[in-house]
Amino acid sequence: MGAGAKGPTAAYVREVLAFFDAGYPEAACALKFGNPFQLLAATVLSAQCTDARVNLTTPALFARFPGPADLAQADLGEVEDLVRPCGFYRHKARHLVELSLGLCRDHGGEVPRTLEELVALPGVGRKTANVVLGNAFGQPGLTVDTHLARLSRRLGLSAGRNPEEIEADLARLIPPARWTLFSHQAIAHGRAVCRARRPACEECRFESCPRLI
Ligand code: SF4
Repeated sequence: MGAGAKGPTAAYVREVLAFFDAGYPEAACALKFGNPFQLLAATVLSAQCTDARVNLTTPALFARFPGPADLAQADLGEVEDLVRPCGFYRHKARHLVELSLGLCRDHGGEVPRTLEELVALPGVGRKTANVVLGNAFGQPGLTVDTHLARLSRRLGLSAGRNPEEIEADLARLIPPARWTLFSHQAIAHGRAVCRARRPACEECRFESCPRLI
């Protein structure tokens, strides 16, 4: 087993990646989007909400407010009505409008392409920024959501106490070219098998998992 007290070995990390490649070769972003701004907005809406529900909500939102210049001038109440199905709608509507104002004010209405610029936008954290970098711009992005955090601990890849520490551990272990796909694969495995409560270890074929040894 390669995930001991000294941390995972390179061989063990390769085993994890091979396991994910075999089980989830086509894992990808489930949010529907037509451009970086739409992915950014959809990711904001996806907090505490399923991707499927976000995908049902965004067509009407983007039809009414196609880009940041439109949302920056939007009536907040109208945005709230449009995003209500996603939950926390007042909070999310305000974030979308403030985010759009920031994009128009500081970036000419374009979504910036660096982590530093993205996290400086209102309501955008590292997770959201990495979703956009990885899926809209093809840059490496580790998306440490609740699934990836759980999987990282169970697989012995990180003992980090928060998403930032986990992201840093994963970034040291996994080649950047794999970050985006690895995030999608871990999230898919976390949803389907390695669930938060009662992971289906008997169905899981990852025999090197520290929980099985
Ligand atoms: S063996 Fe169990 S804990 Fe380990 S990855 Fe599979 S489901 Fe998760």
